[in-house]
Amino acid sequence: MKNKDRHVFLECTECKNRNYAVGKKQRAEYKIEKKKFCPFCGKHTPHKEKKL
Ligand SMILES: [Zn+2]
Repeated sequence: MKNKDRHVFLECTECKNRNYAVGKKQRAEYKIEKKKFCPFCGKHTPHKEKKL
């Protein structure tokens, strides 16, 4: 899996819980931001990348 060299957390922007860990390319310079379901908020919220 050369294209998933490291992992980052996706953190809910509302409650700041880290709900997901995703693979990311080692040299990727973009920031991951996705709408994901947050079990703490009980709804879909924007999740932003945080380093481990
Ligand atoms: Zn949340």
